[in-house]
Amino acid sequence: TLEGRRAVVTGSNSGIGLGIARAFAAAGADVVINSFTDRPEDHELARDLAAEFGVAVRYIPADMSRGEDCRRLIAEAEGCDILVNNAGIQFVSPLEDFPVERWDAIIAINLTSAFHTTAAALPAMRAGGWGRIINVASAHGLTASPFKSAYVAAKHGIVGLSKVTALEAAGSGVTCNAICPGYVLTPIVEGQIPDQMKTHNMSREDVIAKVMLARQPSGQFVTAEQIGGTAVFLCSPAADQVTGTTISVDGGWTAL
Ligand code: NAD
Repeated sequence: TLEGRRAVVTGSNSGIGLGIARAFAAAGADVVINSFTDRPEDHELARDLAAEFGVAVRYIPADMSRGEDCRRLIAEAEGCDILVNNAGIQFVSPLEDFPVERWDAIIAINLTSAFHTTAAALPAMRAGGWGRIINVASAHGLTASPFKSAYVAAKHGIVGLSKVTALEAAGSGVTCNAICPGYVLTPIVEGQIPDQMKTHNMSREDVIAKVMLARQPSGQFVTAEQIGGTAVFLCSPAADQVTGTTISVDGGWTAL
């Protein structure tokens, strides 16, 4: 059980982040959920999770493309035993046409945000003698695909950052690992389907079966619940010595 622990999950008002937040709440942790928006439905989501699982849940708006927001999120959380760096965006384009503004945004949100939140959260974790930092990387943190230069660079980068964090925290009771999911059918993936249809001149069904799941030998999408379960495992005593590594949850993608 994670009772008495507080988890901060960035980018958690949808998709994988929400799946992880739900898994932590189900395991008894208090949870801070986050995105860059500040809508009534974001705060309602926190109230709904609190009611469903009987734990304290707060929504804190903070834009993970801005370093000062990343650090403020950790400060406003008032305690962070478990940090999950999950916020991420995608953009698909040939490298020579890749918009510089999209490159900068992907590196900021998918990689640099984790540097800021980790720097802000690590001292108190170390002082308390226990902590978990979980970075949501990707199969694209270990392998590449064409047209995803910024995303693949950021995800390889966060795998490296996870290793450095693990080494600097080693022996303190704080671990850091990266989860590398294959394709999960979330809004970020839905958003890629129209672009991929254009790029490959294929129907939606063919993009899903022949482009996306072609990389995933199981032929099945991973679910946000499965990523949540992996995150909870990393917080269990069985994972006390699991640090500085990657856990692939990808239907066999990286075995191919
Ligand atoms: P998603 O679009 O559902 O979730 C992304 C989350 O990040 C949302 O909650 C969004 O509001 C938030 N976000 C975006 N920009 C932000 C910002 N500037 N500040 C704060 N929050 C911001 O997509 P997802 O698939 O759930 O992606 C979550 C993570 O999982 C990402 O890091 C993504 O790269 C990674 N991932 C996804 C897949 C997949 O197939 N879906 C596979 C591997 C890795």
